Amino acid sequence: MHQIAVIGSGTMGNGIAHVFAQHGFSVSLIDINQTALDKGLATIDKNLDRQITKGTLSADDKTATLGRLKLFTSIAEGVREVELVVEAATENIDLKLKIFRELDQHAPANAILASNTSSISITRIAAVTQRPAQVIGMHFMNPVPVMKLVEVIRGYATSDEVTQQIMDLSRQLNKTPTEVNDYPGFVANRILMPMINEAIISLFEGVAGVEEIDTVMKLGMAHPMGPLQLADFIGLDVCLAILRVLHEGMGNPKYAPCPLLVNMVTAGRLGVKSGEGFYSWTHGTKELVVADRFKK
Ligand code: NAD
Repeated sequence: MHQIAVIGSGTMGNGIAHVFAQHGFSVSLIDINQTALDKGLATIDKNLDRQITKGTLSADDKTATLGRLKLFTSIAEGVREVELVVEAATENIDLKLKIFRELDQHAPANAILASNTSSISITRIAAVTQRPAQVIGMHFMNPVPVMKLVEVIRGYATSDEVTQQIMDLSRQLNKTPTEVNDYPGFVANRILMPMINEAIISLFEGVAGVEEIDTVMKLGMAHPMGPLQLADFIGLDVCLAILRVLHEGMGNPKYAPCPLLVNMVTAGRLGVKSGEGFYSWTHGTKELVVADRFKK
């Protein structure tokens, strides 16, 4: 495989394009928004520089990597000759179904269509295409150039051959792929989100404060950051959306999102991206300050 396309040039899309281009693939990076494309390319440039500073990449490799990237604002043009598409557009089911119908129409018939979705059913996405056996989940973690895992999600109809190809390809990117089946939240979010929700419920019920909950999980379980800080990083709106997928998809009340999480999202307290969640982020992401309303 040599030619791939990435749909969406946001947080995940530019990271995925970066990793493929660095490993020798020609990459079409496609976004509806030219500003997002320019920003994505600037982020790739900056992250490649960081690798040079760390001594893990040469200046020549950076030039070669950037030379393998092409930017497009049209799916039809960008996917014409590719063997694989990795879709990393906004997490919205109607948008993803529309994009996959378009990909099915314009990508070569033998191309594999992968989605980086965190929570939407791969089987559902595959069902709107004429090639469900070639549709698969390729769930990278943020930040993509750093994180080793690719959760490879087999939809109901995904073939063994396509699964094997994506497992091998992930290894070529120096990642560790893990094969899972297509059920709500897959494995990563099925386990992570109930933990985050339980941390919020503990806060809501007054079991402990923000710092205490995060300290217990950081020092007691050797997690690099506590669940409330992690929720602020992921975005409380994203956590809520994934919990709703788990709750609805499993029909089990144990996945019901904590009312405090619902309230915070409704009030626009989304974590790092809005400047405040469980912590206040107005002074940057390095300094942890518990948000005023949670202070004792
Ligand atoms: P983002 O909002 O940073 O980027 C999404 C990009 O998609 C935007 O640049 C937007 O302009 C573009 N887009 C929207 N509609 C489009 C279309 N029709 N065609 C082409 N581009 C389009 O989002 P993100 O955080 O990068 O998430 C992307 C996907 O990755 C989502 O499915 C999300 O669930 C998944 N994901 C996110 C994370 C994370 O930590 N952010 C981790 C794993 C998986």
